[in-house]
Amino acid sequence: MKNRVIVWFRRDLRLADNPALRAAIDGDFDSIVPVFIQAPDELGAWAPGGAQRVWQHFSLDALSTQLENLGSRLIIRHGPTQQALDTLIEESGATAVYWNRLYDPLTIERDKAIKTHLEQRGIETASFKAALLHEPWTVKTGQGGPYKVFTPFWKAVKDRGSEAPLPMPDRLPEVWSRIGSEAVADLDLLPSIPWDTDIRATWAPGEDGAHERLETFLESAIDKYADDRDRPAIAGTSYLSPHLHWGEIGPRQIMHRLAEWLDDQDSQAVHDHATTFRSELGWREFAHHVLYHFPDTPDAPLDKRFEQFPWSQDDEALELWQRGQTGIPMVDAGMRELWATGYMHNRLRMTVASFLTKNLRVAWQHGERWFWDTLVDADLANNTLGWQWAAGCGADAAPFFRIFNPARQGERFDASGDYVRHWVPEIATLGNKHIHRPWEAPAAVLDKAGVELGRTYPRPLVDLKESRREALSAFDEIKR
Ligand SMILES: Cc1cc2nc3c(=O)[nH]c(=O)nc-3n(C[C@H](O)[C@H](O)[C@H](O)COP(=O)(O)OP(=O)(O)OC[C@H]3O[C@@H](n4cnc5c(N)ncnc54)[C@H](O)[C@@H]3O)c2cc1C
Repeated sequence: MKNRVIVWFRRDLRLADNPALRAAIDGDFDSIVPVFIQAPDELGAWAPGGAQRVWQHFSLDALSTQLENLGSRLIIRHGPTQQALDTLIEESGATAVYWNRLYDPLTIERDKAIKTHLEQRGIETASFKAALLHEPWTVKTGQGGPYKVFTPFWKAVKDRGSEAPLPMPDRLPEVWSRIGSEAVADLDLLPSIPWDTDIRATWAPGEDGAHERLETFLESAIDKYADDRDRPAIAGTSYLSPHLHWGEIGPRQIMHRLAEWLDDQDSQAVHDHATTFRSELGWREFAHHVLYHFPDTPDAPLDKRFEQFPWSQDDEALELWQRGQTGIPMVDAGMRELWATGYMHNRLRMTVASFLTKNLRVAWQHGERWFWDTLVDADLANNTLGWQWAAGCGADAAPFFRIFNPARQGERFDASGDYVRHWVPEIATLGNKHIHRPWEAPAAVLDKAGVELGRTYPRPLVDLKESRREALSAFDEIKR
């Protein structure tokens, strides 16, 4: 009897440093069947949103090509997952199914059920760590519980090191030609109205694209990262988030490549910038730790006082925020960057989230959901942590009374106004003094710049000072 193994790809769309695939290669198998099963219903309300689906299409395409180049083939099937695996086991005669672990609550529940089912059928199962450096249950406070604060969490793990990444396979066994597959296009991931042109032009989904991004970052931005990461007008960050989300590159690979690159760097400053970058990957680990231990946080605040917060039900304000029409240039620029490219700079994510939850007092779940549908890097762990951080109700959150002033954020982090001018061209001719606060510009200045507030660009949706005061008094209600 021949031994065959199914490698079940999910959000680990890479061939190098893929422990499930490596275990299949190193195991006593005559054949390896790589499969991707499309089963969005199994992820409930958190099935991939529109922008993620575009990414997924191209990432699956890239994986498929890579597998073919190595002599194999990606088998694509529709779910339900258990049924699809059962069918594939029948067709291939597989005796084992291997996969890499994920940490969001519905996937964990689904995977447990699949594991039990397969084992009852006498199929060997094995799962592996690929997405994180440190699995959530391996990091504990002195009292044995989960961490809720980043600094001690990162202190506990940052020097632990991680396994060396696994090599790219040279060749893979052929997949029996009788095993049929759907095409990536059959998954209907691309929109029928082509709103995704800018997304396609901005990104290169897939394992090769991920490594190219990392190399570009090392060559051009890491040596200034701690300073430039806050300046949205320049490419000062790695842009690895969507690649990490889909597992086209793993954190171990990034850490090891970084260490190798740093070996040739004498400047202490460069090493310091790299330390800051590593700690951002630490935030990703922390976000997964928090989601694993507090699985209801995508919907409910970690700080239960916020269940009583008097949120405003202002659908019109929410819509203006979504469309980048609030009349506050930094907020509108961020929201328009998101809509066009599927990405928003971290400084802007914090700014627009603070504005929505504090100045507009719209519940954070609405912003979280909009990001979920529009971000190419939408990630349940990172998005949940980010929104609860901004709203002041999550793990290690910004205190509620810390309310970002979006105009001041602009003056500080986009002093040249370049970022706002790019995304809000209707006010681009305003000088630096007024670009972040057009409502304070004298009539003659607006006139000269061809800006008419309320006609060519909106008046501010709220008064920043007044809405700040109202937010603080709403917070007083739940503080008591
Ligand atoms: C309201 C809000 C929502 C967010 N939603 C998401 C999301 O859905 N998906 C997502 O990946 N990130 C999210 N973030 C975190 C952060 O904004 C992005 O990870 C970052 O902007 C991605 O750009 P980059 O890859 O160039 O980051 P870099 O600065 O190059 O950082 C490297 C990597 O570290 C991780 N990272 C960086 N900052 C954070 C952070 N604050 N929390 C967790 N991980 C981090 C990411 O994986 C990132 O790719 C959110 C932040 C906020 C404030």
